[in-house]
Amino acid sequence: MSTSRGLLSFFPEGGTVSDAPSTTPQPALSTTSDHVSQPSQAEFNQGDNSKRKPRSSWVYDHMPNRDREYEYFNRAGKAEWRCKYCPKTYLLSGGTAIISEHLNNRHGIKRDGAQDSRAKNQQKSIKEAMEQSGQHPHKRRKLHHREKGDSLDGGVLEILWVSVIAACSLTFRLVCLDPFRAFLHYLNPDIDVWLPTSPTTVSSWVIRQFQDRKGDMAQQIQSARSKIHISCDLWTSPNSLAILGIIAHFINENGKLQHCTLALKDIIGDHGGENLAKAMMEVLEEWGFVSKLGFFTMDNATNNDVMMRALQRGNLPISASNTTC
Ligand SMILES: [Zn+2]
Repeated sequence: MSTSRGLLSFFPEGGTVSDAPSTTPQPALSTTSDHVSQPSQAEFNQGDNSKRKPRSSWVYDHMPNRDREYEYFNRAGKAEWRCKYCPKTYLLSGGTAIISEHLNNRHGIKRDGAQDSRAKNQQKSIKEAMEQSGQHPHKRRKLHHREKGDSLDGGVLEILWVSVIAACSLTFRLVCLDPFRAFLHYLNPDIDVWLPTSPTTVSSWVIRQFQDRKGDMAQQIQSARSKIHISCDLWTSPNSLAILGIIAHFINENGKLQHCTLALKDIIGDHGGENLAKAMMEVLEEWGFVSKLGFFTMDNATNNDVMMRALQRGNLPISASNTTC
C-alpha cells in the first residue's frame, strides 16, 4: 500500500470537508507535520537523500516537517528551506546564514548552543520522569534492605531506564552484565539498591510503563476537544510481518494537535479489506472512542475501500463519502 500515490479520506457520517474544524488534519495533511499550509503533492518530493550527508545546521529544526532531513522543492525543482512559522522560503543554494537571520529577526529564534540544548533536554526528561512517577506510584522493593539508596528515587529510575531501553532497543539482560553494573556503581553506589538484577523484572517494568503511558493517552483522547481522526497504512516489517499502523490525530484539551500511535497491529491471514476492518475495529474498541470518530486518511489501495465499507456495515458512525487527492 505504501507505493500507492494518492491519499483517500473517508468522512464522519454526514460530514464534508468544510465541516472539519480548521485545526484538524485535512485529507492530504502529512501525519508528520503540524504545519497548516502543507504543500500539495506536486510541490515536493522526498528525493533520494540516502547518499546525502546528514544536515548539520540548526535551521532545519524550524521547517514544517519534524524530520530535519525532509526535502522541500520549489516548482522549478530547486531545493528550498521552508519556514515553519510563516510562508517565507529560501533556496538552499543561498546558504543557511540568511535563514538564521530570518529566524532571528522575524521570529526571535536564536540558535541554542549544543550543550545548552542537551542540558535542557536532560532536565526536561528528568522532570517529566519525576512527574510521571508521582502520577503513577508503584510499590517497589529495595534489593538491599540494609542500604538506604536515598540519593535515587526508584520510580524515576524505572521510567528513565525504560526510556533508555526503548530508545536504544537494549536487551533486558544488560542489568545482569557485571561491567555495566560496575560502571553504574562507580557513578552512584545506590544504583545497587534500585536497579534489578533480573531481566524478568526489567521486562515487567517495560510493560508497566507502557500501560501507564497508554492509560494517560486514553484519558487525553477521551477529553479531546476535536473528533479523533485516523490515518493508517499496512506495510511489511523487516522480519516479514504484515503490520497495520494506526495513528490517531486530535486536538487535546489544551488546544494542541496531538498524534498518537494507537497500534502496530500484526495482520494474520490475508490482507483483504474485511480482515483489515476486523483489526481496525479491535483497536478502536480497545481505545473506546468509536463515538468520537472523525476522518480516515489512507492511501487509495482497493483493500482500504473494502475495509471502510466493512467498518460501515459494522455500524461505525462513518459515511461512504470520500475524496481522493
Ligand atoms: Zn518565517
